[in-house]
Amino acid sequence: MSVDPRPHTTTPPDTPADTPSDTPSDGPRAATATTGDPRRAVPRTDAVLADPALRDARERLGRRLVKTAVTDAQQRVRDGELAANDLVTAVLAALPEHATTLRPVLNATGVLLHTNLGRAPLSDAARDALTAAAGCADVEYDLATGRRGPRGTGALTALRDACPPGTDVQIVNNNAAALTLAATALAQGREIIVSRGELVEIGDGFRLPDLLTATGARIREVGTTNRTTTADYADALGPDTGFVLKVHPSNFRIEGFTYAPPVNELAALGVPLIVDIGSGLLAPHPALPGEPDARTVLRGGAHLVTASADKLLGGPQAGLLLGDPGLLARLRRHPLYRALRVDKLTLAALEATLRGPLPPVRALLDADPRDLRRRAETLAAALATALPDVRVTATTAVVGGGGAPGVRLPSHAVSLPAATEPALRAARVIGRLDHDRLLLDLRSLHPSDDEELHTTVLTTLTPTAAEEN
Ligand SMILES: *Cc1c(COP(=O)(O)O)cnc(C)c1O
Repeated sequence: MSVDPRPHTTTPPDTPADTPSDTPSDGPRAATATTGDPRRAVPRTDAVLADPALRDARERLGRRLVKTAVTDAQQRVRDGELAANDLVTAVLAALPEHATTLRPVLNATGVLLHTNLGRAPLSDAARDALTAAAGCADVEYDLATGRRGPRGTGALTALRDACPPGTDVQIVNNNAAALTLAATALAQGREIIVSRGELVEIGDGFRLPDLLTATGARIREVGTTNRTTTADYADALGPDTGFVLKVHPSNFRIEGFTYAPPVNELAALGVPLIVDIGSGLLAPHPALPGEPDARTVLRGGAHLVTASADKLLGGPQAGLLLGDPGLLARLRRHPLYRALRVDKLTLAALEATLRGPLPPVRALLDADPRDLRRRAETLAAALATALPDVRVTATTAVVGGGGAPGVRLPSHAVSLPAATEPALRAARVIGRLDHDRLLLDLRSLHPSDDEELHTTVLTTLTPTAAEEN
């Protein structure tokens, strides 16, 4: 790595972008300032940026973001929408809270793992771990010897400890990456045997068969949509077989005349059996009887299990590969592995999720319906003093596309007129519309967020409360 030869006292790198030539509108602006309309006396960019009131924002967000807000506010002055005297105030109000456009939202949709809303919320322990690892960290360095060390040992050990003895593990970018690596390293130019009932689309056009064939593997479909037997798999085996893949249909259910063979039968076919369990559940959960978990599937003899870390495991986005040490060694040796490995932030958050307190998704899953009702009633009562049409409704929440299709989680919601939805969404409260009502379902919201939900709904929907704040 090269070292910047400039002394530390040189101007910050973003300063040159703010030279006067960068603000070509200064000319016309000066002209309008002489027309006599004080509203149109647009203060100069440099002068506004130098305003002490904006110093904190400049340090927190950087000059560039503040300047964008200044430019927008200047235009509003020019358009006569804003008085020149109010420009700095308007800039302060318009500034983002963080230097990212990603904003936190309150998930009151009743979908616990909402892919559009970032799937699993991280535990406080995982958030702390992210911060701890954010600077330089010993991700690949042995502090005891001062030598290069194996990457991500802590997270890998935590994952190994959560699996049956003898299981090796690897962590990649997501479950799709785990499947990509396995298909490339073990079945490129060969066949992956999959049941016709398990050639699934996960969401947003992501189709598992397309991903698998993109690696250069061929798919050998066996059985039917509703029934596939061990004999169907056995009949398809041949010299070209790379592995047998069993995929958990994690976002739909086929009921009625169905059959899929147990893991132990498929594991005994004499070729590697890879099971994509989807959700990352490591052990059985009593509320999710149909959901496969890594331990049970590995004990059943699966040679490799793939899963997401940001579904029912409750961690950051990552893909887990668990199973046979020999197979995992082959995956690690493949050049593609380097392209799919995770960064220190993921390793830190995943280790904290595995070692630390239960992640929020477990609290959501395990919530007592009576508590949800109580929370809904408390919230509704607090809102009813200011809002005319607040009700409490019994609802059914779901785990989400991330797992447990068909599992219905009893819940309660605060119900508001549907017309409140756009304003609440703008205030980053995301509920779900049900006919003419907006439901704010408490099953997908951690109890520690109730207070923020209350305050946000109140200030957003009642003008007086907004003024008091
Ligand atoms: C969610 C899911 C995937 C995709 O996982 P990502 O981590 O989003 O890549 C693959 N397979 C199954 C069965 C899933 O449920």
